[in-house]
Amino acid sequence: MDLSQKSVLVVGAGIMGAGIAQVAAQAMRGDGQRVFLHDARAGAASDAKTKLAATLDGLVAKGKLSADAASAALARIVPVSAVGEAAAVGLVVEAVVERLDVKRSLFGELEALVAEDCVLATNTSSISVTAIANGLKRPERLVGMHFFNPVPLMKLVEVVSGLHTDPAVAQAIFELSTVWGKVPVHAKSTPGFIVNRIARPYYAETLAILQEQAAAPEVLDACLKTVGFRMGPCELMDLIGHDTNFAVTNSVYEANFYDKRYVPSLVQRELVDGGMLGRKSGRGFYRYPQGVPALPPVSVEAVAASAAARAVAPAATDDRHAGVVVQGVHIVPTDGRTARAWVRELGTSAVVVHDRLMGKRESAAEGARAPALAYAAAPGLSAEQRAVAVAHLMSQGVEPHQVSDTPGLVVARTVAMLINEAADAVQQGVCTPDGADAAMKLGVNYPAGPFDWLRSWDAAQVVGLLDHLDAHYRGERYRVSPWLRAQVV
Ligand code: NAD
Repeated sequence: MDLSQKSVLVVGAGIMGAGIAQVAAQAMRGDGQRVFLHDARAGAASDAKTKLAATLDGLVAKGKLSADAASAALARIVPVSAVGEAAAVGLVVEAVVERLDVKRSLFGELEALVAEDCVLATNTSSISVTAIANGLKRPERLVGMHFFNPVPLMKLVEVVSGLHTDPAVAQAIFELSTVWGKVPVHAKSTPGFIVNRIARPYYAETLAILQEQAAAPEVLDACLKTVGFRMGPCELMDLIGHDTNFAVTNSVYEANFYDKRYVPSLVQRELVDGGMLGRKSGRGFYRYPQGVPALPPVSVEAVAASAAARAVAPAATDDRHAGVVVQGVHIVPTDGRTARAWVRELGTSAVVVHDRLMGKRESAAEGARAPALAYAAAPGLSAEQRAVAVAHLMSQGVEPHQVSDTPGLVVARTVAMLINEAADAVQQGVCTPDGADAAMKLGVNYPAGPFDWLRSWDAAQVVGLLDHLDAHYRGERYRVSPWLRAQVV
């Protein structure tokens, strides 16, 4: 089934529909191929075409598109006031409002108009593809074609198969996505599909740490940006809007029959209830337009001690705990236990536990601050011992920031949970490991995919960390995916 030569109807000329029409029109080469654009609101499709003309002109002005290609793409886009005017297309892509009843009735209407072999695709981001297809005469021709916003820039397309979807239809959309310049990934219709599901812990772990009052938002953001995330979770939630982010979390939670793994956060609900929705309302975790405040400075004593530390004897390694001992202070990477637990293990209160860098260290520009790294101190640690540990960490090229004695700290705990969620998705046949990696890198710009991290970390250590978190919190949230546990040899 080759859809690349067919005309397409895009229904819904909003943010997503307009972007999909642009991408389709720019990819088409065949004479007479058209992208029909329809919207229930009169004039909306024509308005979208006018905006697309300006967008294409902009690309020409920047030298990214030839004038001929721009005018050819624009000429292919045909606003229609009724879907019946576009009945001869080979593909319909639906991008209307996110409501099951509206989508179902639209596809019911379309089915009566289009040809037998016309493929029906939905851009839904959260509704079950199986449910949308239910009631159609030929539900096997309906498939999810989930683009990411902004459509012309984001490479990922999740090709979502419901229970009815014919594999040949999913494959045809997969291949067409490639022709349209996208990177498609197959997904099974399950709550959140791939990206919106695997990404939940990126927000949830930060919200959990905030609820414990273990660290400030700007510290959490800085630590996660250190390992290559473009935006920290707090600034990202402020950008997305807490209402939207909370709604997605809620829908994944409800759709999973209230599995505690996905429980939404009281911290976020309070922001939503208070109208502190993020950038769009001028205040979320941060105030706008100011945005993320600067991190607190590392203490003056520590900076002085850092210079002194470089002059003293080098640290002795503590291979058993993968850490070092400097002037009697044990400095260990987190394994999911608190510093308190390490005190019991090591028999000394001279303990500092630090976060993981996941192999990535953003190279700081000259004069810029070093990458942030979270650490926790054991309760009995003296100020001098803390300065020794901070100095040691600074000598490793990072800027240490103290957080409360929370297990798994910031990066280790977040990345372990992203890996765990991805492992469950693979176990449940939602996607392959490669599909999950591609989806997270291309759909939400992660610096690495969950399975890239798993390969560069170590399955036994990830499982160990999660088991420690599970033992600490005693709930369902940190239960280890059976697939992940099976990777431990
Ligand atoms: P939008 O509000 O910008 O556009 C929706 C358009 O659909 C509106 O112009 C509306 O007039 C039109 N519409 C509503 N009912 C219609 C009907 N029955 N027939 C024809 N037109 C109708 O919304 P959007 O952000 O473009 O989202 C559209 C779809 O894409 C939703 O299913 C959404 O979940 C999904 N999606 C959105 C994003 C995103 O970031 N915005 C990302 C991925 C997927």
